Amino acid sequence: MNNQMELTNIGVIKDLFERHGFSFSKALGQNFLINPAVCPKIAEMGGCREGVCAIEIGTGVGVLTRELAKRCDRVIAIELDERLKPILDETLAEFDNVEVIFADVMQTELSEIVNKFGNKETVICANLPYYITSPVIMKILESRLSVKSLTVMVQREAGDRICAAPGTRESGAVSYAVRYYSKPKLLFRVNRGSFMPSPNVDSEVIKLEITNENQLPKDIEKTLFRLIRSGFSQRRKQLLNPLSAELDITKQELSDVFSELKIKPTARAEELTLENYIELARRLTTE
Ligand code: SAM
Repeated sequence: MNNQMELTNIGVIKDLFERHGFSFSKALGQNFLINPAVCPKIAEMGGCREGVCAIEIGTGVGVLTRELAKRCDRVIAIELDERLKPILDETLAEFDNVEVIFADVMQTELSEIVNKFGNKETVICANLPYYITSPVIMKILESRLSVKSLTVMVQREAGDRICAAPGTRESGAVSYAVRYYSKPKLLFRVNRGSFMPSPNVDSEVIKLEITNENQLPKDIEKTLFRLIRSGFSQRRKQLLNPLSAELDITKQELSDVFSELKIKPTARAEELTLENYIELARRLTTE
């Protein structure tokens, strides 16, 4: 296997599958990239270069893994499907800077992987399995890993929502949560024909630059995410309703706090800024 073109060639992939008796698992979100332009772009825009180490989630046949390995000092990839092992032994054979861990990313202690890289700058790059996009992103952000950025392919609607500025109609609970930890940016769009098998949705690559700007005490942080989640669970209603139920306080008490913080009592979830939610969380966290 000597160039990237080959792992995006349908004939090469089919041959690998046949020789190793592999078939796609829909349940594991296995849509593999076959557009040769995409993986080099993810690696470049994701900050992969000499002196940098990368974590990948979900290797598939290793098409992105190879691009990361070409540019980075070291790559550690996590893949759930052990049936891919013999394929990856072949497709990654020429690299001595790659390690694949066969495990569920949701059960993996990612900080231990980052620690293996010592003081080197670390980035995360992935074409994420769509069925766990938000949980994976939130797990990474909430673990406060010492990584510079997270560059991931996600379903287009999910990416647009993640990148939507809080306070806009497109925003959702995830837009606020992501912005608490990072600066999200849409990098480029990828159409469904770039994958095999082709999914019935389009995708896009987004980059989250980890900022670590907001570091509230744990109990206030917990209230913050409770407020955001419960507010958006009934986004058409005035916030006072879901929040008073969630926090078990009267609407009048909550309305007083709103007016103290200059938030209008009729506001809906998306009308508040992240700073409004932070102020509310500070004010409403009980000792
Ligand atoms: N990176 C490859 C590519 O771009 O062609 C594969 C991307 S595919 C969308 C997602 C990959 O994640 C699959 O290989 C799948 O087996 C793997 N995967 C699914 N669930 C996982 C989990 N919980 N932990 C780790 N890997 C997972």
